[in-house]
Amino acid sequence: MDIITSKFLAPSNAFSLIGGRNFYSQSMEDKKMTDLHKSKAKPQLLEDSTGSAHIIEIKGLNKSFGDLQVLHDITFYIRNNEFLTLLGPSGCGKSTTLRILAGFESADSGVVNFEGHNLLSVPAHKRQLNTVFQRYALFPHLNVYDNVAFGLRLKKVKKDEIQTRVDEALETVGLSGYGNRWVDQISGGQMQRVAIARAIINRPRVLLLDEPLGALDLKMRKEMQIELKEMQRELGITFVYVTHDQEEALTMSDTIIVMKDGVIQQIGTPTDIYNEPKNAYVADFIGESNILPGMMDRDYEVTFAGKTFTCVDPRFPEAPEGFDPVDVVIRPEDIYVKEESPNRINGTVNSLVFKGVHYEMLVDGDDGFTWMIQDVDPVKVGERIGMTFDPDDIQIMRKSDFSPDRRKVSPVEGVIA
Ligand code: ADP
Ligand code: MG
Repeated sequence: MDIITSKFLAPSNAFSLIGGRNFYSQSMEDKKMTDLHKSKAKPQLLEDSTGSAHIIEIKGLNKSFGDLQVLHDITFYIRNNEFLTLLGPSGCGKSTTLRILAGFESADSGVVNFEGHNLLSVPAHKRQLNTVFQRYALFPHLNVYDNVAFGLRLKKVKKDEIQTRVDEALETVGLSGYGNRWVDQISGGQMQRVAIARAIINRPRVLLLDEPLGALDLKMRKEMQIELKEMQRELGITFVYVTHDQEEALTMSDTIIVMKDGVIQQIGTPTDIYNEPKNAYVADFIGESNILPGMMDRDYEVTFAGKTFTCVDPRFPEAPEGFDPVDVVIRPEDIYVKEESPNRINGTVNSLVFKGVHYEMLVDGDDGFTWMIQDVDPVKVGERIGMTFDPDDIQIMRKSDFSPDRRKVSPVEGVIA
């Protein structure tokens, strides 16, 4: 179960739960205190090893719930104004990481710095972060305008400033003219826009978004993905986004962090992650892949499926003398269907499915591996083919626990676990 999505969107930096309802109000303490970071002399951007500026540093974060360690030594940087996505299957610790950033959860150990200052000692309502959850809890008794204005009213912002800022926020989320609508008169997608407007109205430095499009249908989700990305650029706010949907992550992100079981598997741009997955887990999780065990005994040459191919990678620096076992990834769209031939991998097409843009074929390779191919031209089931690929479409990875020949076969289902 995803715990935080059952909560609500905090419209201001302060909230509390009243009764059983998702409701919030500003604490008395908050009225007295000014924002921690406003009182600091000057925001301090940090440099990482690539020389770029980042505003948040997360180092060695660990978190357990009872006996279950859900975060293991989580370490990454968040650059200023970037769209960073935590991507991984349900239960891998994405929301927990976000909740620690938001201040809704504590860490067992580790450091989180925001502009050089320890963020973990700052109470949730005073962090320059705002959170958008999957289930936008809007006030049903308020119209769109008042839902967005709510946080500013609590802060006793002047009426004309409220007007200007609400209008601006509604324009940003594409809801100009919707101010008078009641919440039950708008669609799910529009409700999520109101939730976003409510979060950006406080002009947070960082917006935390936990599967915010999860409740929307596919078409609306695709539209909102593009709009959110545009919004992020326009606003110049750093977005930290959580999703289990790899396509969503690839579409929107500047940086993707792939997680599994509370461990970071890879950090990189969408292109890096897709084209150069670090291990078989990432390759498998990000899109369809053919992942096979291979061997390298010299630079720029790899043997798999019983044949040796030219590739663009040298051996790994730590490779032992002689053969070095590796994993090989070839994306289905990178395979060319050719005539059967002795120097190709040959096989028999065993299934053909039309996927809208391309056909997806499964081919029983003579090497014993079932290959997936995506091609705009179909080949009939039962036909014999030969397969080729370009050297730079052969991705070589180090062996890991996720390697195809190291994964255990589940006795129950008889499939690779
Ligand atoms: P994700 O967002 O990636 O789906 P979460 O961060 O929500 O994953 O959860 C990671 C793991 O921690 C899961 O196994 C989940 O059941 C567990 N977990 C999360 N919050 C709590 C909690 N408050 N108490 C106990 N276990 C929790
Ligand atoms: Mg979650």
